Amino acid sequence: MLSQVVELIENKQRFGITTHIKPDGDGVGSSLGLCWLLKSLGKSAEVIVHGDIPLAYRSLPGADEIQHVESVGDAYDAIFVIECSDLERPGIAGLEDQFTVNIDHHATSEHFGTINWIDSTASAVGEMIYNLCKAIGGRVTKEIAECVYMALVTDTGSFHFSNTTERTLKVASELVKAGVKPAVVSEAVYNNYPWSRIELMRQVLGTVRRDETGRIAFLRQTLKMRESAGAVDGDNNGFVNIPLSARDILAAVYMREVGPNEYRASLRSKGDINVAKVAEAFGGGGHRNAAGLKVEGDWDEKEAELVAAVREAVERAEAVAAGDITVAPDVL
Ligand code: 5GP
Ligand code: MN
Repeated sequence: MLSQVVELIENKQRFGITTHIKPDGDGVGSSLGLCWLLKSLGKSAEVIVHGDIPLAYRSLPGADEIQHVESVGDAYDAIFVIECSDLERPGIAGLEDQFTVNIDHHATSEHFGTINWIDSTASAVGEMIYNLCKAIGGRVTKEIAECVYMALVTDTGSFHFSNTTERTLKVASELVKAGVKPAVVSEAVYNNYPWSRIELMRQVLGTVRRDETGRIAFLRQTLKMRESAGAVDGDNNGFVNIPLSARDILAAVYMREVGPNEYRASLRSKGDINVAKVAEAFGGGGHRNAAGLKVEGDWDEKEAELVAAVREAVERAEAVAAGDITVAPDVL
């Protein structure tokens, strides 16, 4: 919990910070924000990741100094592990022998850390880093603010998603006060893709269909589409949300071919429809309105199974809204 994290920072000196492979804006922004905070407190700190950082986040202050590593030795007193469901997610060998601090806002996180600070009410880990800064008596510098703002904007879909709370907006306001230019961050994230994104979008949207109820949309991306579009990682960001812009669509299923008979699926929903429960039933996880999983087998069959499971989630949410059934809030 937070008080343990504060105590640890006060008592130790050398810190490593890592996040999951193919990091998103919350992973990179929170890691760099924490790094700046630790340095401002006179600590030694560096961000270590496996693999590349997406282009959209490379303009963040400190991004140039991120270390790309495959393993860790005894360089640190403790390593912060940001936004990871388990210790394998960073893809870095040797983490299991370290003093680790698990910081996450996913309720489904395994408590793998030596210290675990999980706050599922936070819109992004970035919000937690801001809280940590306040709790430890740090100053919100421009660098910290820019990194944490990136985390908030990307994880809340520019403050559109249901995880956006009064606290999120209050923190965002403080960050703007500390020097963040929201339009500059939005340009870096949303208007900074290569043309291959548009090529890929054209092909993927060509596959979009609705189920027989007309309320669930599903779309697909093959390896061949990726290849012919010349796509790079991140080009498909947000594709799954596009069908939700239609009024009658309540949920979307977006499957990507990643190998022979292997697929990653993203699930999205509106309102009380819980797709995290659907993802969990297939071995994945996530949040109520945004979840993901990996499946193997026949594509048509797996897609039909997922769509049917999402339809049940839609019907369950409707039955609860109508007062026909009652379920515990975490089951909804
Ligand atoms: P996305 O659809 O963008 O890949 O993921 C949406 C959400 O679901 C994210 O919060 C992500 O952490 C979670 N998620 C995606 N794939 C998996 C998975 O395989 N396992 C777990 N536990 N969570 C996942
Ligand atoms: Mn996040």
